Amino acid sequence: MKLSIGHLYPELFNLYGDRGNVQCLLKRLQWRGIDAGVTVLPAGEKIDFNGLDIICWGGGSDRGQEMAAGYLRETREDFRGYVEDGGVVLAVCAAFQLLGNYYRTEKRTIEGLGILDIRTEWKPGRLVGNAVLDSPLFSAPVVGFENHAGRTEIGDYTPLGKVLFGYGNTGKGDNEGLVYRNLIATYLHGPLLPKNPEVCDWLLERALRRKYGKEIVLEPLPDVQERRVNRNIVERFTTCQAGDGEKAGNRDVRGGRR
Ligand code: GLN
Repeated sequence: MKLSIGHLYPELFNLYGDRGNVQCLLKRLQWRGIDAGVTVLPAGEKIDFNGLDIICWGGGSDRGQEMAAGYLRETREDFRGYVEDGGVVLAVCAAFQLLGNYYRTEKRTIEGLGILDIRTEWKPGRLVGNAVLDSPLFSAPVVGFENHAGRTEIGDYTPLGKVLFGYGNTGKGDNEGLVYRNLIATYLHGPLLPKNPEVCDWLLERALRRKYGKEIVLEPLPDVQERRVNRNIVERFTTCQAGDGEKAGNRDVRGGRR
């Protein structure tokens, strides 16, 4: 039996190389001798959720989101069933927003899948830059790059982490992303997983557990370069003083907290 990684609508959602998340999932399985394959799920085609163990869904433009919302509407209940059954999902940025009730921009309201009871409102001033989170799920900080105009209220859901540097879900720099069952939704591109191997293995362990019905602890990998990349980003940004963001390579579009 092969672990099946579904790459949802890659032609519409691949901002900042989010496709790299799929490659990272696959590679970390192959390095451990675990059989896996990628199923591309093209926009508009029927999705067989029963055959999937992980769904990877990246970020994209408002236009792509609107198209995807239309295509996905009829699969909403199957998608919800997959998530409720513990199906593993990584949803980045535009995908995070579309899993919610709606994404309201100046011009239109894009109806989401309503799988998560969250709302996203567009506000002027894009939230752009590197981000560092402290997540109770992982020993190393989670790092990534955010670029969104939508602000998401996650209500009572558990955030992925507390923002140490960056803007987060609402731009206020309090929390970022969310975790629900075996789903991680986040604003962090990067791609996220190569920079945060612990997040990748968290998704893989959950997918393997669901598929084979038993606890599986993945053999650790050396991750020398991955850890170095992660640490460099953490050190570069969390040692910044207020106002130093630009020096550290961030563009402050909001003129606010940095
Ligand atoms: N269109 C959304 C926003 O700007 C999502 C962007 C993205 O996926 N990076 O909020």
